[in-house]
Amino acid sequence: MIKLVVTFAGKFKAMKPTHIEHIGIAVKSLQESIPYYEDILGLKCYAIEEVADQKVKTAFFMVGQTKIELLESTDPEGPIGKFVEKKGPGVHHIAFAVEDVQQMLDHAAEKGVQLIDKTPRKGAEGLEIAFLHPKSTQGVLTEFCQHPKE
Ligand code: ZN
Repeated sequence: MIKLVVTFAGKFKAMKPTHIEHIGIAVKSLQESIPYYEDILGLKCYAIEEVADQKVKTAFFMVGQTKIELLESTDPEGPIGKFVEKKGPGVHHIAFAVEDVQQMLDHAAEKGVQLIDKTPRKGAEGLEIAFLHPKSTQGVLTEFCQHPKE
């Protein structure tokens, strides 16, 4: 019998993500996109919020403990505006729920990952967020999210 022992001890020092917090999807228009999620998938949009800092309006749907975050640009020069212009609407990023964003950033930086944010900033729903650069993450823009500590 072959016993396979794989150990990552020593390679990963940070706390691993607990779940996918949300999937960010770039859309041209919230108004045009929301009916697909509500009428076809049967989800309910429970919040619409503008995040001025990121030049977006967001709409949220809950699926289990994961959210779908639709992102409509409020400025063609904003990150979502540019993304839609270049690639069209579609999946924009994946956000992992973590206990400590700063710890994950430090861990990633230590491993040579290019960071977009060196320290966490405020995202939608009051979460602490930070992004890793897709050049360092096999093309998937990666976000870390931390719920504010009670
Ligand atoms: Zn996000």
